[in-house]
Amino acid sequence: MALDQEKLQIRTYYRALFRAWGPQHWWPAQSRFEVIVGAFLTQNTAWTNVEKALANLRAAHVLTVSGIRGISLEELERLIRSAGYFRQKAKHLKLFVEFLDQQYKGSLTKLLARRTEKLREELLSLHGIGPETADSILLYAGNHPVFVVDAYTRRILGRHMALSENTTYEEIRKLFEEALTPIAHSVADSDGDERHHLEAGLRGAAHPPSAMSTAKRTALAQVYNEMHGLIVGVGKNYCRKSQARCDGCPLQKFLPRV
Ligand code: SF4
Repeated sequence: MALDQEKLQIRTYYRALFRAWGPQHWWPAQSRFEVIVGAFLTQNTAWTNVEKALANLRAAHVLTVSGIRGISLEELERLIRSAGYFRQKAKHLKLFVEFLDQQYKGSLTKLLARRTEKLREELLSLHGIGPETADSILLYAGNHPVFVVDAYTRRILGRHMALSENTTYEEIRKLFEEALTPIAHSVADSDGDERHHLEAGLRGAAHPPSAMSTAKRTALAQVYNEMHGLIVGVGKNYCRKSQARCDGCPLQKFLPRV
């Protein structure tokens, strides 16, 4: 399929999903640091397991930079055990705080104020941070206009567009960023629909509004944010790894004819 057609298709998917489910309010968190911790913890595990680990950290009053700095590695491992790979993840969280202390005097504000590309490079150079984690931190903690590509994105594209297995993370990210840029402003103007969607209840992978989901961001960051949340909704509810449950999926009408 030609690139322009793919971009048009992505815009069509965005509109269909947003019309069906409304704002998704990702990332569900009260602080930038909570987003970052969640981005580490969600690697290779379901979000429900992450929620348990986050609740443990919150209850222990350590869901902060100083909290993770002060807690022992063993105690951190214990608190995040439900998220899986807990030894590795605890070590990576500790290393992240160490890096923040050394390079930015412990200030997330200073870190996240860096230019997008520079910050992305820096995050990617850290242990335990691959492209999806780096982009989640950029977009959801820092409100940088970067699209997050996850396994759901790849799966949905694969089932709809005959995406080659060799397509790289960066190629998919670029495709979505270019496709969604023209509609950024229509999202900025969609606030009037918010009440209507909230009254309809949580649909897709929507969360109730949170401090981070309602943080001020550019229209471009907002549309990337929304599209990722909508894709999570499709992946979780319909486009399962083992089987696509297309009945009722808002993207069903766009399935290629075979
Ligand atoms: S569940 Fe079916 S219609 Fe929905 S995205 Fe997956 S393949 Fe497409």
